[in-house]
Amino acid sequence: MRIAVLTSGGDSAGMNAAVRAVVKTGILKGCEVYVVREGYEGLVRGNTEWAEAEGQRVNTSATESVKQEVEINQYQAGSDNVNLLENLRFGDGELLKDGTSEFVGGRTLKGRYIVRVGWDDVRGWFSQGGTLIGTARSMTFKTVEGRRAAAHNLVKEGIDALVVCGGDGSLTGADVFRREWPDLLSNLYETSLITEEQLKKHGHLKIVGLVGSIDNDMSMTDLTIGAPTALHRICEAIDNINSTAYSHSRAFVVEVMGRDCGWLAVLAGVAGGADFVFIPERPPQVPWEDAMCAEIHRHREVGKRKTIVLVAEGAQDADLNPIKAEYVKQVLSERLGLDTRVTTLGHTQRGGRPCALDRILPTLQGVEAVNALLESDESTPSYMIGLHENKIVRVPLMEAVEQTRAVTRAVKAKDYDKALELRGSEFKEMLEGFIYTSALGSESEKLPKEKRMRVGIIHMGAPAGGMNAATRDAVRYCIRQGHTPLAIHNGFRGLLDDNIDELSWLGVDAWMPRGGSELGTNRALPSADIGGVAAKFQQFKLQALLIIGGFEGFCALLELEEGRKHYPAFHIPMVHLPATISNNVPVTEYSLGSDTSLNALVDACDAIKQSASASRDRVFVVETQGGKCGFIATMGALAVGASLVYTPEDGMTLDMLRRDVRYLKTRYSLDLPGKSEGRLVIRNEKSSEVYTTNMITKMLQEEGGSLFDARSAALGHTLQGGIPSPFDRVRAARLSLKCMVFLEQHHNRLLAQGGPHKPRHATGESAAVITVQTSSVKMVPVQDMVSHADMVNRRGKNAWWYDIKGLVEQLAGKPKFLGLH
Ligand code: ATP
Repeated sequence: MRIAVLTSGGDSAGMNAAVRAVVKTGILKGCEVYVVREGYEGLVRGNTEWAEAEGQRVNTSATESVKQEVEINQYQAGSDNVNLLENLRFGDGELLKDGTSEFVGGRTLKGRYIVRVGWDDVRGWFSQGGTLIGTARSMTFKTVEGRRAAAHNLVKEGIDALVVCGGDGSLTGADVFRREWPDLLSNLYETSLITEEQLKKHGHLKIVGLVGSIDNDMSMTDLTIGAPTALHRICEAIDNINSTAYSHSRAFVVEVMGRDCGWLAVLAGVAGGADFVFIPERPPQVPWEDAMCAEIHRHREVGKRKTIVLVAEGAQDADLNPIKAEYVKQVLSERLGLDTRVTTLGHTQRGGRPCALDRILPTLQGVEAVNALLESDESTPSYMIGLHENKIVRVPLMEAVEQTRAVTRAVKAKDYDKALELRGSEFKEMLEGFIYTSALGSESEKLPKEKRMRVGIIHMGAPAGGMNAATRDAVRYCIRQGHTPLAIHNGFRGLLDDNIDELSWLGVDAWMPRGGSELGTNRALPSADIGGVAAKFQQFKLQALLIIGGFEGFCALLELEEGRKHYPAFHIPMVHLPATISNNVPVTEYSLGSDTSLNALVDACDAIKQSASASRDRVFVVETQGGKCGFIATMGALAVGASLVYTPEDGMTLDMLRRDVRYLKTRYSLDLPGKSEGRLVIRNEKSSEVYTTNMITKMLQEEGGSLFDARSAALGHTLQGGIPSPFDRVRAARLSLKCMVFLEQHHNRLLAQGGPHKPRHATGESAAVITVQTSSVKMVPVQDMVSHADMVNRRGKNAWWYDIKGLVEQLAGKPKFLGLH
């Protein structure tokens, strides 16, 4: 099969990762892969000008030189390798990188828009923002004539499978193209532009859509490619603004992108700890000025020195009048007398290096796109590759586009409930979460006195990004509901030392972007003095407990639940919110802190790889933390395009190392002279006690000979990350609020058991871990978790990411280069 991939509409970070994944997977599956430059415009223009001007492809010489290289190096691979070798390089990759400026007066690369690419042509594309193959908005493609020309160009190249990465417009265009394809081809045949053979061979166009948009405005997927990076950019800006706003006690009105979608504004509001947010889907009632000023005035009254108001670019009031940042500033200045500034973030939100998520998700989605193409036939609908919680899904493309359009229609018809519903439950939850954690709430909104709880909040184990955010939001929820949030400092040891105090709404205000653990944390378990812990529960009249931490948190909850047999004080609802960079808590697919950690790893590895590439032929062995869980190493390897990864789950053997050395030698021997690049090997610190990072590095130095050199870098505690990533912050908010609702529900169940002096019996269900499982969030009783836990190695027995290690090696070409597949 010949596959073409294009990017269309507005650019977004992560598009390059998607193209890279499509190219590599396509080649691995035996396809020829082409990129189409400048979106649909490139399809319409095709290669005519070039063909006339040059008459032949440029790739042959490059391929020849590769073949010569291979001979020089006496490459001895099995016959299965021919495919990869033939697809190694076409010289176009270099042209692609350097040629974008040649798009002048509608001519690109001498008129070549549909370009065959090889394995090495997409090298190093991961770390670059935007789209290297160019994008455009093509008016011509919107016409039948334009699409006819596009079909002709594709057939000329023998292509009838297309991956389109773009927004709803681009995906609509893709579907229109597919539906029209048979007619377009008939027409081309009738006008003798294609032969009967071509007509028969290419009778059906296969199309798969990848959603590339920073707005995250597409229905039926939780995330679009580029939205996570845009959120990073916004949060970086808000974090920076926060400190200056605090210093001068100023108000800032920040305008963020998102067009008709408030996703970026809402999530940035949650992650950045904003005071007020304006979005299109939930417009304020007119006159909204009163409500905004009243809320901000109250924040100032309790002592807040700074104010952040976010305005989505498509924000409007309930009468559909646009809400503009300048006007909000005017209102805040005039009515509240606040020194107010406006910051429009503009295109900085689009740019920059993709965050970890915008490398991992587009990669997984690109792989799935090729699989979907290969499995597609005339009877299957066009699919869009989406994401639901933690699962890559195929959804009918036009259904997703239609649902997206329905949101815009609902907003225009002022049916805001419907608009919110169509945006999906996560969006709605985040919006409600923002309101709960930003607004002070009133006395009348609080729960009746008998339903209020004294809630203990404790951190366990090593610090992880998002712990403080989760605590802040739990505290804010408590205060709104009338509960008393109690900080237990320094873990269970702190509890035994009476190191416990009440937290306030203002006291936790600045915790959102803070790394580490504000409460203090340690690894001591309740079993150190379980009777003493029970006595303290009683002394401080704890009625609910939120444990935020890693594997220790899970173990602590287990001990407390088992302690219920002997200690009535533990008959209270208790919940564990997993937070650990190792992501080793059983059952759950995600722990707070793991995204921050992946981003820290990506940042470090980008810098290391640059250094390694500068020396051309250097392998860096990068050591990661993660305990006996290979999650960070594996996902990190996927996010940075590492060549090899070692995990404790698989361990390390001499055979493995022998093969890996052979692979690296082969790989370096295929690099063109002077065009070698730095490569990364990621090794979890506990992968082997014998084959240490130091030993591996020395071994590679020895074995690399004249082909490559080796160095090592241990990332150590830098992986705990400084500032938590926006995703860890927003997930912290979402999950901690769910934990609080869980505690309330079980508290109410206990209350229903009888009078105030009757001993209460908490069921096993009331001691649970909040888990993310594939596409849903579930509370799992801690006792049910035990059978899934490997208590010796402190990790889950099964992990969803195991297969990713194989994918890392596939995308590095290891099996192919070794002639294994
Ligand atoms: P973004 O979300 O960044 O705006 P988008 O994909 O929605 O991305 P559009 O400008 O709407 O951006 O569409 C990109 C291109 O897709 C258009 O320039 C056009 O070439 C093509 N396209 C859009 N709608 C159609 C359509 N109905 N029929 C054919 N082609 C279309």
